Parts: sequence; C-alpha cells; structure tokens
Amino acid sequence: MTKIEHIGIAVSNLEKANSIYTKILGLEPYKKEIVDSEGVITSFFQTKNTKIELLQGLDENNAISKFIDKKGEGIHHIAFEVENIEKEIKRLKKLGFKIINETPKKGADNKLICFIHPKSAHHVLIELCQEIK
Ligand code: ZN
Repeated sequence: MTKIEHIGIAVSNLEKANSIYTKILGLEPYKKEIVDSEGVITSFFQTKNTKIELLQGLDENNAISKFIDKKGEGIHHIAFEVENIEKEIKRLKKLGFKIINETPKKGADNKLICFIHPKSAHHVLIELCQEIK
C-alpha cells in the first residue's frame, strides 16, 4: 500500500453534499462520474495529499443506498492505493482476509478496485485501488 488514495463518504443527495464539501475544502469537485458497476454517482475533490469521494446511490439496490438505510450518511470506506492489485489480493487472501470481489473491477476515477470485507478489518470497509495505465 502506498498511501490513502481517497476517503469515500456516503451521501443521500450529491448536489447538497457537493456544496457542503466545496465550502469545507474551499475547492470544487474536479469530476462527477456515474459508476455503472456499482449503481452510484460520485464526485471527487482533490486535496493536497488525498481525495474525498462523495457517493450517492442511483436506486435502492446498491451498496450506498443500503449503507445509508442501515447506518445513515457518513464515512463509507477508506481507499488505499496499491501498485499491483492482483498481487495485493493474493497476499491478503493468504493472510486470511476476506476479499469481497477477488476479481478487481473498474471503479470510479480510472481505477481497478476491490474491497476487503469490513468483518476482516475492524468494521472498516477498505478499498484497494490501482490506477489504470
Ligand atoms: Zn472509493
């Protein structure tokens, strides 16, 4: 793992959340993106050394809407950047971690991603992401 690539925050209204985080961070989101594979719409803010990802579900049946139903809005995941996601998945599996999707999928912001199950990580959902080159 090289750094915290971003922190993902589940929100129920992306436009409202964008305007709040624009005020907090003093900058505008640099992109807004629909991620079909996840059924979500996201926006990204670039701070000096990491990013903030806001995520809103597009229907009832995606992970973000379900998360908000259960727990309310808030921090949803922490994403660590990795250089070789396949290698990291193998390494973590060997150590006994439960990986939610063992085949990396295309996530937002030009990344290959996978998630470590929160039960394996003290109830924190951890995303691994590798830049697609
Ligand atoms: Zn993320």
